[in-house]
Amino acid sequence: MRRGGVFLLKKLQTRVVGTAALFLCVALIAGGLTWRLAARGRADAVSVGANAQAQMEEETAFIKWVDFNAPLAVLEQALRYDIDSRTEAVKLDWIALLAYSAAMNGGVYKGDKACGHIDALAERLRAGERMRDIVADMRYYRYYFEAYSAILAGFVGSYRLLHEDAPRYGLKVYSPVAKAYGFGHCDDFGDARTYGYKRSHLGNDLMGAVGTPVIAVEGGAVQALGWSEYGGWRVGIRSHDGLRYYYYAHMRKDHPYVKTLKKGDIVRAGDVIGYMGMTGYSRKENVDNIDVPHLHFGMQLIFDESQEEGEKEIWIDVYHIVRLLERHRMPVEKDAVTGEYVRAEVAA
Ligand SMILES: [Zn+2]
Repeated sequence: MRRGGVFLLKKLQTRVVGTAALFLCVALIAGGLTWRLAARGRADAVSVGANAQAQMEEETAFIKWVDFNAPLAVLEQALRYDIDSRTEAVKLDWIALLAYSAAMNGGVYKGDKACGHIDALAERLRAGERMRDIVADMRYYRYYFEAYSAILAGFVGSYRLLHEDAPRYGLKVYSPVAKAYGFGHCDDFGDARTYGYKRSHLGNDLMGAVGTPVIAVEGGAVQALGWSEYGGWRVGIRSHDGLRYYYYAHMRKDHPYVKTLKKGDIVRAGDVIGYMGMTGYSRKENVDNIDVPHLHFGMQLIFDESQEEGEKEIWIDVYHIVRLLERHRMPVEKDAVTGEYVRAEVAA
């Protein structure tokens, strides 16, 4: 009886210890999850404009949607502050300036208000105010900073040209069209497309001549290369930080890419990757079914792998980005041995 009582007591103790351990595990897991959500989320998932408020209410771990509307003048102004301040006591970060202007105007750019916001912010920072104090009460700043960082993180910084010792500072991404090759484009993001099924145009069409060398805007890994019914011969390059996926489509019939290029390759910003063409809109490979030769250039943001493919994809309007990149174009030359065009940055 007594021994039985001790046994029961021990059993009870074991159960209590076991339950406590279980509670501790649950608490640790929950705590870890909260910490991860807080660290990863940093900002709630929001959209701009009408959807911003509703989405802000949702507790989510990563950004679900981004509209990018900053016009060329605003991008150039923020970039100028960033570059001009690189040796000054107060270094101005163009992404912070842009995020601030977006948070001030709700992501809607009208007139020159945004430029005024950026000027005012630059003045306050130069006068010694701290960014974190200025934005402390701005509800959407962190969202815009994270969203704009995803778009522009690889764009500006120190970089070195192949044959130069001294590093340069500035735009280190390139126009998708090689220097000295003409192209025309307009803001066609969201336009209706009807081939296959009714859908929106999720990129920018750069109209030019067949054979125009196409340049890798940013460095990264070749993730897709080959035929797609819609894009024809196309290349997809994922940035090293994984946040941006660059899509180059409708490339030239018969010789779409630099011949040595293959899936898994790492390319540098400014490398020639292939040639403009008019392939696509065909289930059959290597068919020119596009009316006007052009490069379809697109940028997708991937905050979470669930957004890589399918209806959760986030594509950005790159029209103003392409305009910004016109100030940084890669000269090319033909390699006499391979017949391919290659970067010729010595002359840049
Ligand atoms: Zn297109």
